[in-house]
Amino acid sequence: MYNPKSMVADEFINDEEIQETLKYAEENKNNIELINKILEKARPIYTPSPRGRVGEGVQPSSQKMQAHCSVITHREASVLLACEDEKVWERIYKLAEEIKQTFYGNRIVIFAPLYLSNYCVNGCVYCPYHYKNKHIPRKKLTQEEVKAEVIALQDMGHKRLAIESGEDPVNNPIEYILDCIKTIYSIKHKNGAIRRVNVNIAATTVENYRKLKEAGIGTYILFQETYHKKSYLELHPTGPKHDYNYHTEAMDRAMEGGIDDVGLGVLFGLERYKYEFAGLLMHAEHLEAVHGVGPHTISVPRIKKADDIDPNVFDNGISDDIFAKIVALIRIAVPYTGMIISTRETQEVRERLLKLGVSQVSGASRTSVGGYTEEERPTDTEQFDVSDQRTLDEVVKWLMELGYIPSFCTACYREGRTGDRFMSLCKSGQIQNCCHPNALMTLKEFLMDYASEETKKVGEELIKRELENVPNEKTRQIAKDNLEKIGNGERDFRF
Ligand code: SAM
Repeated sequence: MYNPKSMVADEFINDEEIQETLKYAEENKNNIELINKILEKARPIYTPSPRGRVGEGVQPSSQKMQAHCSVITHREASVLLACEDEKVWERIYKLAEEIKQTFYGNRIVIFAPLYLSNYCVNGCVYCPYHYKNKHIPRKKLTQEEVKAEVIALQDMGHKRLAIESGEDPVNNPIEYILDCIKTIYSIKHKNGAIRRVNVNIAATTVENYRKLKEAGIGTYILFQETYHKKSYLELHPTGPKHDYNYHTEAMDRAMEGGIDDVGLGVLFGLERYKYEFAGLLMHAEHLEAVHGVGPHTISVPRIKKADDIDPNVFDNGISDDIFAKIVALIRIAVPYTGMIISTRETQEVRERLLKLGVSQVSGASRTSVGGYTEEERPTDTEQFDVSDQRTLDEVVKWLMELGYIPSFCTACYREGRTGDRFMSLCKSGQIQNCCHPNALMTLKEFLMDYASEETKKVGEELIKRELENVPNEKTRQIAKDNLEKIGNGERDFRF
């Protein structure tokens, strides 16, 4: 029986409820009255912010507005996804853009994945690391190699990593992952520092999540791959990952272990996208119902070609248009959740999705173990083909030319603004007085330490322009002073 508050996977991701949702969506996909109601409900409502009232050092012109969105349910969002009316879709895209702008502004957070080990005991049929793949070289970084990779990443300008590893209790036990995190945080090279390590490793125990929390991780990321249990069992025929319930209940254990920020994801292409979409939103609703805080991020990977993997054997691949629809609707359905798009996607696709709701991108990624220290991009141990192969400098310049602020900010996590505290910052409308100047200051660091002359020029102009968009006068002045200090060699300022 469907119960979002249950701690049992089959009850909060309930197949019967998803089937009924899909049926309801199909029956109502032309019900324009209902669609209008759902879109009206999803629209942000703006009210003056109590913390930004005129007379408290705030000019009337810059009076802060507080925005609030009523969250739409998985059923309502599924109706929108089923709708085929182009006119309705124009409205959906516009609304997604508005919500993106309201809660996330034009900042795009940048990170890179760091592959630690491709040893894996699982049999995931879509992943080249599956244990039966005998021709992929198996590799696990030593701590010296981790150090070299991190220095290479710092030399590009990265401040935020997502560590990735196969599941292998002998080769990559939790102690190994913890050692790597410790090494990563310890490296101070020139002006470089990794200030936030997110972790994407297999589902584990509450005790291990607690250890990850103590090691100072940012977000714990685990992709569900598919919410369809029967398919999940077939796609993960062997190994610990075969246990659907253990995998699906992982975020609850992570939160029990003290991790506030969790990142969900579906590997699109494995199952029917409408099923996955409903399941993903039900998972978010479950986290909100049980823990009072929804997912910090949602990732939307699509299956890619890889060693021993032909993406065409999976029948549920989605077109770029459907992909755009899914991203826009995730933005609308979970307005306070960040959305991540990786280099699995081309520059063109990423550009389209940024507008519709994506708030984080990876840049200059190498998905091979030890890839960052190689001169040429190695492909032998790659987890998947990387479509966007540009340098970080190119990605930063591209974002700025599109009108975005590339952000290397990690302040929220370092200031303890995680979980519901981050969400309330997002909801209070104070992001513009906090995240906005933080983004500008970290961008300035990048420009000073790592950017090409051309990128620097574009960036300096952008910072000058965007500084004026910090509403609070006092904050704006502090940010101005800090930017000057960064220009003079000081680092690591934050609000
Ligand atoms: N081993 C960990 C686990 O079991 O969750 C996670 C790390 S894995 C390196 C990261 C993600 O890459 C997987 O969760 C999966 O969604 C994705 N992935 C695997 N094979 C892929 C492929 N061929 N194309 C695109 N993404 C893939």
